[in-house]
Amino acid sequence: MSGQEFFQAGERVGVLTTQPLDRLLDYRAPEGGCFLGAYVEVPLGPRKVLGVVWGPGAGDFDSAKLRAVIRVLDVAPMRTEMRQFLGKAADYTLTPMPAMLRLATRAPGLSDPPSMRKILRRGEGVPDRMTEARTRVLDVLEEYGGLAFTPKELADMADVTPSVVKGLVKQGALREEEAPRDTPYPHLDPELPSKQLTEDQAKAAAVLAEGVHSKRYGTTLLKGVTGSGKTEVYLEAVAAALRAGRQALVLLPEIALTAEFLTRVEARFGAKPAEWHSGATMTERRRVWKMVGQGAAQLVIGARSALFLPFRDLGLIIVDEEHDTSYKQEDGVLYNARDMAVLRAAMCSAQVVLASATPSLETWANAEAGKYNRLDLTSRFGASVLPDMRAVDMRSEDLLPSTWISPTLKQAMKLRLERGEQSLLFLNRRGFAPVTICRACGAQVACDHCDARMVEHRFMKRLMCHQCGETKPVPEACPSCEVEGKMAPVGPGIERLAEEATSLFPEARIAVLSSDLFGSARALKSRIEEIAKGEADIILGTQLVAKGHNFPLLTLVGVIDADLGLQGSDLRAAERTFQLMRQVAGRAGRAERPGEALMQTFQPEHPVIRAILSGDEESFWKAEAAERQAAGVPPYGRMAGIILSGPDLAAVFDLGNAMARNDGPLRQIGAQLFGPAPAPIARVRGRHRVRLLVKAPKSVPLQEALARWTAPLHLKGDLRLSIDIDPQSFF
Ligand code: ADP
Ligand code: ZN
Repeated sequence: MSGQEFFQAGERVGVLTTQPLDRLLDYRAPEGGCFLGAYVEVPLGPRKVLGVVWGPGAGDFDSAKLRAVIRVLDVAPMRTEMRQFLGKAADYTLTPMPAMLRLATRAPGLSDPPSMRKILRRGEGVPDRMTEARTRVLDVLEEYGGLAFTPKELADMADVTPSVVKGLVKQGALREEEAPRDTPYPHLDPELPSKQLTEDQAKAAAVLAEGVHSKRYGTTLLKGVTGSGKTEVYLEAVAAALRAGRQALVLLPEIALTAEFLTRVEARFGAKPAEWHSGATMTERRRVWKMVGQGAAQLVIGARSALFLPFRDLGLIIVDEEHDTSYKQEDGVLYNARDMAVLRAAMCSAQVVLASATPSLETWANAEAGKYNRLDLTSRFGASVLPDMRAVDMRSEDLLPSTWISPTLKQAMKLRLERGEQSLLFLNRRGFAPVTICRACGAQVACDHCDARMVEHRFMKRLMCHQCGETKPVPEACPSCEVEGKMAPVGPGIERLAEEATSLFPEARIAVLSSDLFGSARALKSRIEEIAKGEADIILGTQLVAKGHNFPLLTLVGVIDADLGLQGSDLRAAERTFQLMRQVAGRAGRAERPGEALMQTFQPEHPVIRAILSGDEESFWKAEAAERQAAGVPPYGRMAGIILSGPDLAAVFDLGNAMARNDGPLRQIGAQLFGPAPAPIARVRGRHRVRLLVKAPKSVPLQEALARWTAPLHLKGDLRLSIDIDPQSFF
């Protein structure tokens, strides 16, 4: 820890804890002293809490009452750059520091003493007889030289049953030892052969590698259609980071973090990287966290919160599918992992690669303005070509009532069935029907706690509110007029579409991919893998199928309602629709067979639909950028959403009105305030929601003004205020 400040035992230190306090707490450094940045356990009232030594103590607390740090945890101290990163991220998102620290210490059992586990090494004993299985086990140990493995790892690697391993232990050919549970990750070898890159790809990879070698900050947009080899290219940037002895982080949307992806990384570097995601076990999370800090994990593949891991020397961050909305955390700390990646990289002289087929307008504009570099991969790898995209004009299709698959689309599906290829129908609506209406009085079933209609989920045999998750049975009688037997579903959800597909093609194997039909992300991912192998003829999916999966047999994509995303009042509606449709269409024809994408629409001449069909992305972005610029909205202006909520509507509005009256700090920076107004979803879980929207010119200190504006507020009772900088959606 050269250069790190050290505090002698008894010296006064200021500790940032994970507790919701608005200041550092003073303690005495423990026996043996501690480094600046040390993770410590400190007493707080009757409890012990986790904290980090943030600096010298303030000295205004009575020394006689000063308590001592209980102990220093057995982990690498937080690096200066990490403390700076958390500080800046807190300022940017207007998040209190303790909440940032919680985000950065989300590894269960960090303060537990290191636990032990059983590992096996080669022993002196000679087995009584050698079977093929036994030989394989001993070969594995031989191959990995001095390394030791748990019995399970060893059995898995040698592909034998656990009893084979046990047998060898009994005979003394394997020796048991106790070792700390958190062990370094296997070494990754960047020198293993990579795929033979195409000229385009090789050029892009070389530019990225050069960036990594510069050991300076830089951000690059890596743009290319699905299947153009972006992953192959950025893995070479990872190789460059590994060669330089620095760490790399690949961020993926949770759902794209699949076994398939990890296998690919393993094939490139010869061993599994560290994984960080919601499905990882507590032990695994703690191991990643600790090893990353010691530099004993060279590469982490993770979901957005991996950005807050304590890397020792991070040289490269990849944000794959950078436009994906799941990078924005929508509760707790409201941050966008893509933006925070750029911030973090700037603090540790790392490179960022933002990869996407359909970048966000923010990123596109930053590249246009020269703030980011831009690399384009223009063709798909190998024989695969972009699908042929066409609109199906629903105004001239003959459809029976309550059916949604047009004759044109049906014909195309039939052809795929005959050829043994897959079709995907995309509809971004979970459940059976979005609305349940009474045919006697016209009333719709709404949630009792939210300003939302209940969605029928036939699979569960219930109605569900997609805001709060409340469910109830489908009523026999209308809750409003009490007439019986008149409740009817209106409109399609993915389950209803499945019913229609089944009746059209009773012989086909139909798979429905909707997040609510799977108990866990893991179950969903494994189903997706089965489907990719061909275990379905027709796939029906909601938004999540748009993300980075490979379906080699898929040659037809049917978009059931291409107009769906165009109606919202959301400023990003056009951008979202554009991205989603292009991504979905990109699912078709990834292998050797060319694909076709059919988009059912009632407005084929809508500019967004036309831009999607023509494939002229640059002009779509230019037009969209011009509109946003004219309106002074992101990325050409700044915005912050303020949501006030509470059980009593009048009290919430009173607070909103008071804030609007005292908007001096906002006016000083030339910001405009809109509202208070009921939020687009005006009630969730019985809490009324009121929204204020702040719009400011691009270059003003918005956060600082917001902080001054909200600091004097005292939130009484059950009132809550949350500030969302750069809101992604407006609910
Ligand atoms: P993207 O990330 O842009 O969607 P991928 O990197 O996943 O594209 O590439 C799509 C498919 O083509 C993958 O199966 C990949 O292994 C393969 N591929 C891409 N480039 C090459 C190459 N140069 N040599 C061999 N296979 C390649
Ligand atoms: Zn509800």
